[in-house]
Amino acid sequence: MLYFDHNATTPLLPEAKRAWLEAVDSLVGNPSSPHRLGARADAALESARERLAAVLGCNAGDIVWTSGATESNNAVLSHLAGMTTGRPDEVLVGAVEHPSVLAPARRHFGMKVQTIPVDGRGVVSLNWLEEALTDRGVRAVAVMAANNEAGVLQPWREVAALCRSRGTTILCDATQWIGKLPASGLGACDFVSGSAHKFGGPRGVGFLKCPSGSALAPLLSGGKQEEGRRAGTENVAGVLAMLAALDARESALVRGAQRERLAWREEFEQALTGELFGASIVGAGTERLWNTVSAIMPETDCRQRWVVKLDKAGFAVSTGSACASGREEPSHVLAAMGLEPGEAGRVLRFSSGWESTREDWQKLLAGLREVHGAMLELKAT
Ligand code: PMP
Repeated sequence: MLYFDHNATTPLLPEAKRAWLEAVDSLVGNPSSPHRLGARADAALESARERLAAVLGCNAGDIVWTSGATESNNAVLSHLAGMTTGRPDEVLVGAVEHPSVLAPARRHFGMKVQTIPVDGRGVVSLNWLEEALTDRGVRAVAVMAANNEAGVLQPWREVAALCRSRGTTILCDATQWIGKLPASGLGACDFVSGSAHKFGGPRGVGFLKCPSGSALAPLLSGGKQEEGRRAGTENVAGVLAMLAALDARESALVRGAQRERLAWREEFEQALTGELFGASIVGAGTERLWNTVSAIMPETDCRQRWVVKLDKAGFAVSTGSACASGREEPSHVLAAMGLEPGEAGRVLRFSSGWESTREDWQKLLAGLREVHGAMLELKAT
């Protein structure tokens, strides 16, 4: 089976597995315990905090370990809702944000949530944002680094600079960026969320980078862990495995290994749109993750049928976000990008991993050609 669904989750990297096994064997104490075994576990967590902070460009004390990006995003929105700053209680969220940002934003801020529009390529409008921030003070802005469905990169550096100049808080959900592109500089955002299982670490562990020196109202209470910012015994082995995976991915990025992978993706896209009449690429003409292809498939069949037939042919692909697949509401991401429901209903997402090869992309293309041919034959009979 060729796995082309890495944006949903990635296989555990051997480095991460090793770090996890070592940690469960050697770090048996609870980091909050007063004895030496507790202190050892705590020291390992602190050293991981320093390593992550160095990658992001922030202070070690700004990092809070969480169960993943869903928790991190929820924690930020819940914290912002409880803030008594005298600032207006409006929040601006990108139209293509992940549901783990959108749902808590709506829950806590209701009608005070404004959507930052995206253009036809899926990029948030900086002009709109600048005007909104000039017209009125807002409490916070949420703009992700890279979109999970279409892979479109967002101008998070510019958004962060704009927010800084207006004294507005920014949350950057960097879940799909981290481990695929250099994480350096993300620490300049007030809040950053990330998740280990998107870059070769285990599921159920992630982090939240918080603004330096300010308290975070805990989403989970009932313990003093993480300086009172997140109650619950820390997942020490998970954190160490996450950092091992991140180190491996950051080293690949330093070597520039993403560049040839981008070329493979582009080669695949060209062949796909050239060979399958009616196929087109979502977000074409803008910078996207090197691993993600979101394609409107020819009108031969619905996307669920494509997924099932590709699965039978040995390819694991997705209809979009893992969270959105399985239900047939059109994706809010594709709708925000201006796709008609009929087009959105034909979108497939192919997301490769670091270990995927050029030949894997070529095999996928051959698989698509074959499935398409079979569908056309069936239609003709
Ligand atoms: N944000 C984005 C952009 C994502 O792609 C995901 C995972 N689909 C999440 C947040 C949620 O991450 P987790 O699985 O760690 O809860």
